[in-house]
Amino acid sequence: MKHLSILGSTGSIGVSTLEIVAAYPDRFRVIAMTAGRNLDLFARQIRQFSPRIAAVASAQDIPRLKELCSGIKVEITGGVEGLIAAATADESEMVVAAIVGAAGLVPTAAAIKAGKDIALANKETLVTAGHLFMEMITEYGVKLYPVDSEHSAVFQSIEGHRSEDIGKIILTASGGPFLNTPTAQLASVTVQDALNHPNWSMGRKITIDSATMMNKGLEVLEARWLFDVPVEKIDVNIHPQSIIHSMVEYIDGCVIAQLGTPDMKAPIAYALSYPERVATGVKTLDLTTFSGLTFHKPDLIKFRCLGLAYQAIKAGESMPAVMNAANEIAVEAFLEGRIRFLQIPEIIERTMDAHQAHDLKTIEEVLLSDRWGRDKAREICRGGTPS
Ligand code: NAD
Ligand code: MG
Repeated sequence: MKHLSILGSTGSIGVSTLEIVAAYPDRFRVIAMTAGRNLDLFARQIRQFSPRIAAVASAQDIPRLKELCSGIKVEITGGVEGLIAAATADESEMVVAAIVGAAGLVPTAAAIKAGKDIALANKETLVTAGHLFMEMITEYGVKLYPVDSEHSAVFQSIEGHRSEDIGKIILTASGGPFLNTPTAQLASVTVQDALNHPNWSMGRKITIDSATMMNKGLEVLEARWLFDVPVEKIDVNIHPQSIIHSMVEYIDGCVIAQLGTPDMKAPIAYALSYPERVATGVKTLDLTTFSGLTFHKPDLIKFRCLGLAYQAIKAGESMPAVMNAANEIAVEAFLEGRIRFLQIPEIIERTMDAHQAHDLKTIEEVLLSDRWGRDKAREICRGGTPS
C-alpha cells in the first residue's frame, strides 16, 4: 500500500490521479490532498477518498470548506502552511505535485525536505529552480518520477542505459491548435480557439502554453534538469499525431522511443506504481489506423514563446524564473480577455528585456525573482497595448 499526498487534486492531473487511486484501493491510499478554488469538487473528493488532511490554497476558504465537509472526519487547513502540512503529512510516502505554476514551488520543496518521493507534474518548479531542486533530491535521498508525458517517455527510454551513452533527447510536440494556422491569423485567435487542443485534455494554463508552444520551452528546461543533459543535446520535433511521446538517441545511432495513445493516465500511473505497471484503461494503440507519423522542426518565428524560452535558457540564472512568471501573468490576462494572443510573447519579451539575470542560491531568492517577474509583467500589461 502506497500512501499519497496529492497537491492540486481538483486539477486535470489531480482528477486523473484520483481515477487511478480509485481503481486500485489495495495499492494506493490518499493521506492528504490540496486544492485551489473549486471547493465543491474538493469536498466531493474528500468524501470519496477520506484523506486525513485537506488543505485549500486560501486560508479564507477554510470555513466554507468545513461547511461543505460537515460530518466528514478530516482535518481541514489552508494557506501556505496548510499546503505544506499536506505535502509533509507523516504517513505519506509519495507526493503528487500537480499544482499549476510557481505556486507549486514551496509545498514541493517542503515535501522533498520531509523525505517524500515526488511524482512531478508541476514543471514550473524545475523551470524556475531546477538546480536547487535537483540538489535537494540528492541531499534528501528521495526519488523523482516525471509525470509530464514527454519526460515519462524519456524516463522509460533511458532505463538501463548509461548517461554517457546518450547522444540526444528528442522531445516531441503536437504543435497545438495553431500548428497550421497562418501566422497572420494568430493576431485574431480567441480564447476558445486557443483552448481547443487537438490531442490532449489538460488544465487551462498548460493548454494555452501548448498553443503558444511555451510549454515545449518549459519542457526543454524540465528535461535539462531531470536528466542532467545540456540543452544543446535536447531537440524538439513537431509530431502532430502525439503518438511518440519522446525519444532518446544513443551514441551508436540507435533511437529508443515510447509510444501510446495520448492520455495522461499512463504516465501518472507509471510514476505511482514504478517499477511495476498497472492497467490504466488507456485505449491501446493500433498503429495500422495511422496513415503516417510525421515530424518536422518547430517554427521559432511563428511560435515566439519557444524562441523566448531558448533565450531564457541561454541567459540562465534568474532569467527562466522571470520568464515563467511573466508567462503566468500573460496567460492569465489572455484567459481573462484582457490581452490578445500575440501579446503573450510581447509581455514576456519586454519583462525579460527589463531583467538583469543574476545567480539564485536559495528557494527564497527564486521566489523573489518570481515576484519581480510578476510585478514587471503586470505593469507592462497595465501599460496598455504593447506594439
Ligand atoms: P489545472 O489548472 O487543471 O489544476 C491545477 C491544480 O492546482 C488545481 O487543483 C488547482 O486548484 C490548484 N491550484 C491552482 N492554483 C493554485 C495555487 N495558487 N495554490 C495552490 N493550488 C493551486 O492544471 P493541470 O493541467 O492539472 O496541471 C498541473 C501541473 O501539471 C502544471 O504544472 C502543468 O504544467 C503540469 N502538467 C499537466 C498536464 C496535463 O495533462 N494537464 C500534462 C503535463 C504536465
Ligand atoms: Mg508535456
